[in-house]
Amino acid sequence: MSHINENIQLEFIISHAKAYGFIFPSSEIYNGLSAVYDYGQYGVLLKNNIKNFWWKSMVQLRKDIIGIDSAIMMDTNIWKASGHINAFNDLMIENLNTKSKHKIDILIEEYIENKIQKEINNAKIILGNSFNEEYFIKNNTNIIALNLKKKKIFEQMFKLLKSNNIAEIKSLLIELEIINNNWGNIQKCNLMFKTKLGYTDDKQIDIYLRPETAQGIFSNFSNVQKTGRMKIPFGIAQIGKAFRNEIIARQFIFRMKEFEQMEMQFFIAPHEDKKWFSYWKNIRLKWYLSLGLDKYYFKFKNHTKLAHYANAATDIEYKFPFGFKELEGIHSRTDFDLRNHQKFSKKKLQYYDPYKKCCYIPYVIETSAGLDRIFLSIFSYSLKKELLPNGNSRIVLKLPPTIAPIKAAIFPLVNKDGLPEIAINIFNKLKLYYNIIYEEKESIGKRYRRQDAIGTPFCITVDYESLSDNNVTIRFRDSMLSKRVSIKNLKKFLENHINMKILLKKIINIYNKN
Ligand code: ATP
Repeated sequence: MSHINENIQLEFIISHAKAYGFIFPSSEIYNGLSAVYDYGQYGVLLKNNIKNFWWKSMVQLRKDIIGIDSAIMMDTNIWKASGHINAFNDLMIENLNTKSKHKIDILIEEYIENKIQKEINNAKIILGNSFNEEYFIKNNTNIIALNLKKKKIFEQMFKLLKSNNIAEIKSLLIELEIINNNWGNIQKCNLMFKTKLGYTDDKQIDIYLRPETAQGIFSNFSNVQKTGRMKIPFGIAQIGKAFRNEIIARQFIFRMKEFEQMEMQFFIAPHEDKKWFSYWKNIRLKWYLSLGLDKYYFKFKNHTKLAHYANAATDIEYKFPFGFKELEGIHSRTDFDLRNHQKFSKKKLQYYDPYKKCCYIPYVIETSAGLDRIFLSIFSYSLKKELLPNGNSRIVLKLPPTIAPIKAAIFPLVNKDGLPEIAINIFNKLKLYYNIIYEEKESIGKRYRRQDAIGTPFCITVDYESLSDNNVTIRFRDSMLSKRVSIKNLKKFLENHINMKILLKKIINIYNKN
């Protein structure tokens, strides 16, 4: 079998996700809300499996991390202390002709990528034929000049964005010919959703839907540390919804207004930040690779422009169908959050270190992953169009079996002669342990194709021989080969192939080696 199309297009992924019950546009019968999506019957199972794998890896397997579930609505002072009310802004500009809205930093990044980087790449291709390629690339005056230009624009952009100098930012965009007179003014947009708490107008107060789950962890630091009797270093993890009024609504579930984060804040002694930052970078990358995803689809991108709370930050980037983009952020947040919450709340958020015999505000290393982006990375990586040896083709979702939404489909070969009864019996026994499907309509070939499309790793068929030998045929999704297995061994077979224990053992190995 060969893959017809290595680079499956985003449009195909979106239509497959919809056609097979993974993801639907939200409120579709009313024409939908932009950048808001619903997970369908298989989508929710896959998403829950990813969530479970993260939770078990980060909480269940570690004695130094515990999990919480804080509320979405929080006191507005939390967002003042965290800096979100003042600093969680995007600068936006509208193209008056097309009415499309654009983020300023993305416009400049795209300009660098599409113009300067392209020129650098072309110059490199020309030099590529020479016998000492690397030497010439390093010393070519054209490439040196282009790299300098790139660096200068980046530096200029960071400086202007930091100082919020809107007039000069617009001049830079005009100078680089990114925009012209047909563009509107630059606007500052706060990304948080505001709502009201209280019944009557005079008693209502403004609150915000949380734009990240992290602050629910910081505000509970003392509660968790004391009640859990946690000693530094230790972590608090949580999974939950976050809301951002994103300007750009494209790239499917990559950028949504309502999405889910899986975050862990690791509290450490001050000045141990470098050690733990590199520890968590390493662990989190290996977590993705344990799912069997190709390491060439991942890379780190260190931040040159740091957020107001960080002294170091890196993104784990994944090669989505639209290029390398952020999947997870690892941030060294210093003591910024706890110190500010201590200041705003006037409650002590210090830790007494019994070994060092002193009090301090802990430093924090954060791992912040987007559940929906992980879903998209695994889904797009697994979706293949394959050419079969008989000349036909198939569409198959080669999900890691341990996180596939449906673990096995049970079919009677025909819908008569006692075969459905045996198949239903198998279904009733296995459903206690796994999500499985019973299907008796259509030909076996069509039933196989449907299960391929939703990523079911095994199809179990009850045929006439089963009546006498109590065996069934198991068909493997990826190889399409079959094997006879006794009905009484089916549970064990599935356990050996799809149980999450298989993945968790890999994670234990990673923890033991680091
Ligand atoms: P980006 O630069 O892409 O806007 P970010 O740096 O603002 O992302 P963080 O604030 O670090 O993102 O959030 C942590 C993680 O949450 C991200 O790595 C990403 O996986 C996820 N995430 C952030 N914003 C969104 C969104 N609008 N939709 C889906 N996932 C998101």
